[in-house]
Amino acid sequence: MIPALPPLRVTRSSHPDYAAPPCTRTVTVAGVAVGDGSPVVIAGPCTVESRAQTLSIARACRAAGARMLRGGAFKPRTSPYSFQGLGKAGLEILVEARAETGLPIVTEVLDPRLVSLVASFADVLQVGSRSMQNFPLLTEVGRAGKPVLLKRGFGATLEEWVYAAEYVALGGCLEIIFCERGIRTFANGAYDRATLDVAAVHALRKLTPFPVIVDPSHAAGHAGLVPDLAAAALSLGVDGLLIEVVEAGADRGRVKCDGEQGIEPDELAAIVARAESEAALRRAPISPAGAAR
Ligand code: PEP
Ligand code: MN
Repeated sequence: MIPALPPLRVTRSSHPDYAAPPCTRTVTVAGVAVGDGSPVVIAGPCTVESRAQTLSIARACRAAGARMLRGGAFKPRTSPYSFQGLGKAGLEILVEARAETGLPIVTEVLDPRLVSLVASFADVLQVGSRSMQNFPLLTEVGRAGKPVLLKRGFGATLEEWVYAAEYVALGGCLEIIFCERGIRTFANGAYDRATLDVAAVHALRKLTPFPVIVDPSHAAGHAGLVPDLAAAALSLGVDGLLIEVVEAGADRGRVKCDGEQGIEPDELAAIVARAESEAALRRAPISPAGAAR
């Protein structure tokens, strides 16, 4: 039994028709439905580094079967001396990639003052883990008229995450996609980067009618772990995955951000295939062994 939260705009208790999982408030982005029972794979580079790199990865993501393109133009970097993203020029490259591939764009907005600029390019506004409790930002993205992908703060409780979504909803947005990306526990970087909180995914799906997706890339921290974490997430019944991709044969050491965790396009295609078979399974649950046919 998951303890109930108060009747907030984003909890099931405020939506009497939506008493239990699965997701009952589908978020549709340029014709792509998140939460309709078929897990959606959203993929792309951690960072828009150049036009050539972004277009190449966008084409590869499209060919692998991803349904949306995710790339950062404004990057939340721990060090102020690290590459901060291309900014507006990066948004323009993403728009070009969308025009060519037809994939809607998900991109992060970091600064409340830049919400309307980013919203004029993006199809979905991402709020990153480090910004989950930037309350003025949450309010602004809620007012922007675009769906919001709300990552969980890596130090945030489930309740804090739900209340963050409530700020977005109070701004006027009821198109919210929750994204679990791993929390800080005892991960030390050798095996993983964060701890994928599968129990929180389960609880959140019970608490909220909105779609819940998982980002295995930032939890894993290295590419080898991503497919298994993606499979674990799919088996939890999630509505989608958010995955970082590098170009085939990329020199990871030269990737400007998160190079170690980006998977190659053929691995992405395998995850998409797995997501599709998971969707088929959900449509036709396996009958118990020996059950009458
Ligand atoms: C990202 O999506 O590239 C990112 C910085 O993720 P997070 O906010 O989850 O750390
Ligand atoms: Mn990243």
